[in-house]
Order: sequence, then C-alpha cells, then structure tokens
Amino acid sequence: MSHSPEGAARRPHPRSQQLYERATRVIPGGVNSPVRAFRAVGGTPLFFTSGRGAYLTDADGRSYLDLVCSWGPLILGHAHPAVVEAIAQACRQGTTFGAPCPGEVELAERVVASYPGIEQVRLVSSGTEAVMSAIRLARAFTGRDLIVKFSGCYHGHADHLLVAAGSGLATFGRPSSAGVPEAFTACTRVLPLDDEAAVEELFARDGGRIAAVIIEPVPANHGLLPQRREFLESLRAVTRRHGALLIFDEVISGFRLARGGAAERLGIVPDLATFGKVIGGGMPVGAFAGPREVMARLAPDGDTYQAGTLSGNPVAMASGIATLDVLTGGNGWSTLEALGAQLEGLLQPVLREAPFPMHLVRVGSLFWLSMHEGGAPRSAATLPQEAAGRFAALFHAMLAEGVYLPPSAYEACFLSLAHTASDLERFAQALRHSLATLR
Ligand SMILES: *Cc1c(COP(=O)(O)O)cnc(C)c1O
Repeated sequence: MSHSPEGAARRPHPRSQQLYERATRVIPGGVNSPVRAFRAVGGTPLFFTSGRGAYLTDADGRSYLDLVCSWGPLILGHAHPAVVEAIAQACRQGTTFGAPCPGEVELAERVVASYPGIEQVRLVSSGTEAVMSAIRLARAFTGRDLIVKFSGCYHGHADHLLVAAGSGLATFGRPSSAGVPEAFTACTRVLPLDDEAAVEELFARDGGRIAAVIIEPVPANHGLLPQRREFLESLRAVTRRHGALLIFDEVISGFRLARGGAAERLGIVPDLATFGKVIGGGMPVGAFAGPREVMARLAPDGDTYQAGTLSGNPVAMASGIATLDVLTGGNGWSTLEALGAQLEGLLQPVLREAPFPMHLVRVGSLFWLSMHEGGAPRSAATLPQEAAGRFAALFHAMLAEGVYLPPSAYEACFLSLAHTASDLERFAQALRHSLATLR
C-alpha cells in the first residue's frame, strides 16, 4: 500500500481512465453532476461497478470503504437485501402506470406519521423538484413574492435558489451560476447563517413581501454548519409574526437525523418541509409536505400547478418504503447515533496529531472534517487557500488506503447502518496513515 501522496495520486486506474475519456466525449465534463468530476482534488474520477454494504468496487476491481453513500440516500448501505427485493418485486409488476398506485399511499402515510406538524405530502422525483414546488406553493399561499435563503445552503439547482448555494458552487469558486437572469433571482434575498440581526432587519423592511424563509435546519452543503437553536427559533418566531412560511429543507436531514428529521431533533416545527435522498432509499424520490390548509392550494384541488410523469412510481415507492421500514423496525436512528459517537471517539486523537488544523463536526451520522484555522465555522466561510491543496493530498492518500471520501473539502461525509465498528476503526487507521504522509 503506497503511503506517499504523489504515488497515491498517480496510482493507475486504467479502466476508470478509459471510461472517463469516453465519457468526456459524450457527456460534458464526463459527469452528470459536477462534484463527481474530481476537479477540486485533481486526477480523474473513479467509475464504480458495484456497491455492497459500506463498500464500493471500482471498474478496476478495487474496493473502497464508502463515506459518501451516494451523498445521503444509502442510509442502509449499498444493495440492502430488503430494498433490492422490494425493488425487484415491484419491477415485475410494472415500473410505472401514470396513474395512482398503492405504494404512493403507503409512503405518504409513513411521511405524515413521522414528521411533526404535517398532514399531507406530494411525492416528486428529486430534491430539486420538491424545493421548487414548495416555494411555488408558499408564494401561492401567502400571495407574496420574496424568498429568503441563507448563504451556503443548497436547495437544488432551480434558477431562483442558485445563489450562494453551497459546496457545488463553492468548490468551483463561484457565487452563483451563469444562465440565471438577474430577474429570476430578483425575488430571492440571501442572508448569512447564524445572524438574527440580519433576519430581523430584512423583515423590518420587507416583512410584508416575504413568502417564505427556507433553510437547511442542519446545513450540510457547505461542510456541516450546525446552527444555534436560538437562531432557528428566531426564524420560527419572525416568520410567524410576519405571516411568512418557514420551510425546512430536510432533503439531507429528513429520515437521517431522526424519524422526524431535524425538526424532531431540534423540537422546532416548520410550516413546510422538503425531502429527498433517504426517502427514496437510492431511487429518485423527493417530497414536500405541510398542513392540509397549505397543501390544498395544489392542483387538482387548488390553483397551484405541479406535476410529474414518474412521480410516485411503484418501483421508487417500494425502495423508499423498504428503507423507512428497516430504519423504523430496528430503531436505526439510535444505531446511527451510536456509530457517529464511536467515530468521534476514534477520530479525536487522530485529528489532534494532524499536521494542520482539522476539526470533526458531527451531527448524528453526518460528519465533516473541517480544515478551517480557528475551529469549525457556523456560517459559510471560504476555506484558506492552502486547505484545498491539503485536502486534495489527503483525498488521494485515503483512496490509496481504500477509503472513498467526498471529492471536495466542502462536502460532508455520510455513515450508514452498513458501517460496522471495524469499518470505523479502519477509517480512523487510514486517516492516521494518510495524515502522517502529509506531515
Ligand atoms: C441534495 C439536496 C437538494 C437537491 O436534491 P436533488 O435530488 O439532488 O435534486 C436539495 N436540498 C438539499 C438540502 C440537498 O442536500
């Protein structure tokens, strides 16, 4: 096993390399989602051919302990037998009907029973769609136009939310995307996290025009930036006072941090919540939910249009239902918390010996290795220039150790129920070796 970062970076992956060259001819940048491209860490992306439990196998037949878990959906790990079986069974009955199916009712009932304060849910096919639709609904319900978001929070790639939108953009050093007309973001206000005064000031000026405040209650798209409870409580209070809706974007945190997501964990109930990732168990599912009074504004009952050809298809529903049932049946959330706590215990001594500042930020089964100098930040802060190079070297050293980290210093890591105590020890060991090579 190579312990030199140079050797690690140059370790050949001929089949991945070949696939990547073919991919770049027919797919822009060779990838279908930018952060997969390894631009922040250098080298060419690995192509994976299979996943099982906590492990991935690449096209060259090498195995990696996976800390990405498809960016969150795989809370049970790869190819969990119950999920695979549910999907296979559903497929044999037909993959989509373009008409209602029982699975939609079953998944919707589970969401409503799990999440505080909601009565109805509409199922869609991605987190982006869920957020887009929730925003449209909030505007329709309040009859107002302005949306408030926070710098560093990512809410999918809809035009009007693609401002100061977290890791994907931070990785590429851009505040916002090209191709988004100013007029499209004219109704979006961006505020810093962790700053009650900025929120109060905006509401004092524009309160009567604000339809909704949207936030990741545990921001996990610009590293991991756990917020003070008082800050989130102040959002609950100010929105209520001004007749605006509070939207928790729980696309990452929903069904991951607790059965009732971050809302349950924090004891703060939003007006609307959005889901994705875990709720589909690895199939494309998103959802947005709220009280009947608000949800009734959606077509066909109401005047707010929203639709989807593959929304609620039986295969995706089967995957989501099986995933939530395994989590609920085994009280997966307490196991995930215990795994996270164990990881923290293992990593603390390793990080204390790191040759540069590195802090563990953890909330349940989400964690981030923050490379900020003065401790972990609470709002979106740009990493110091040297950190990018250090992270790239660390990333490749970890790859050589057989550990797959997210390929950007701004991305959080994910644990699953498939990660065992010995996997975590392996991870800590690999981190110790890798950091030693960077000394
Ligand atoms: C991933 C994510 C989205 C977008 O979900 P997609 O399924 O990728 O469209 C939205 N909000 C948050 C908080 C996310 O992490």
